[in-house]
Amino acid sequence: KGIIEYFNPGEEEIFGYKSYEVVGKNVSLLMPEPNRSAHDRYLDDFKLGKSSRDQSQPLEQLAIRKNGETFSAEISLNTIKIGDEIKITGVLRDITERKLKEAQIEKLAMTDSLTGLANRNQFNQRIEEMKNQAKRFKSIFCLMAIDLDKFKPVNDTYGHQIGDLVLQKVAEILTENCRETDTIARLGGDEFSIILHVAEDPKELNVLAERIIEKLSGRLIIENHSIQIGASIGISCYPNNTTDTNELQKMADQALYLAKNEGRHTYRHYQLETIKSQ
Ligand code: GH3
Ligand code: MG
Repeated sequence: KGIIEYFNPGEEEIFGYKSYEVVGKNVSLLMPEPNRSAHDRYLDDFKLGKSSRDQSQPLEQLAIRKNGETFSAEISLNTIKIGDEIKITGVLRDITERKLKEAQIEKLAMTDSLTGLANRNQFNQRIEEMKNQAKRFKSIFCLMAIDLDKFKPVNDTYGHQIGDLVLQKVAEILTENCRETDTIARLGGDEFSIILHVAEDPKELNVLAERIIEKLSGRLIIENHSIQIGASIGISCYPNNTTDTNELQKMADQALYLAKNEGRHTYRHYQLETIKSQ
């Protein structure tokens, strides 16, 4: 019937209820909405053998403490027959910490630890999402591949640690100049890439490309050093250039290569001429 008959001391500690406060009450008291209201129906389905859940596996579900705080719980349910009656026993574990750790690990796996930007994993995932969106809404998006100019000499002159601070500053400048909906990634070394929505024409990005180059070419003050870097940019566009996301990345790189070859401190869009002139 869903009525609690026994509540052990471990459960008292987790939920903050004394046993006498819950025994005799409906077990849905321990669940937040919407599960609370749905629980009697779940139980009816279970009794009729209509539950589709694999009973041998523990389930993860939110539970609610006496003080109203919800937490992630792992619950194993079993039925036992006592006389004519079927009873349900539940073993519940508070998995808040495990969930937090999982979220941290997930974040680490998706983030560049030096700059806090997206890493290649997240970048690749995001490109696929953008592609699906673009297909569905017939929209377009661009990749902007950015590589710093003459960054190696910064490391050689000031040391790797200052070089790292420069990369962090670059991440900050990119973040300040892009929209929240853009995905900014550090793909490795001094190589960054941005995924950007475009309304109609990749040329809309020219102003942004110029601004990024200008901002990254100003003198950066890092620990009392005035450091000069610069940046080159290559831009490719989905679906104008290709509908293959690997190709799209290669095309942005080829355009970037062209910008480097043609003197750095500039940007190029991918186009057929890009390859011809290489
Ligand atoms: P170019 O103008 O052709 O781009 O030349 P560059 O000097 O910028 O050199 P390149 O892009 O070919 O290589 C990037 C350099 O970035 C190589 C390495 O010295 C440095 N680098 C790579 N990863 C890191 C890092 O995590 N921290 C620091 N401080 N430097 C890095
Ligand atoms: Mg470079």
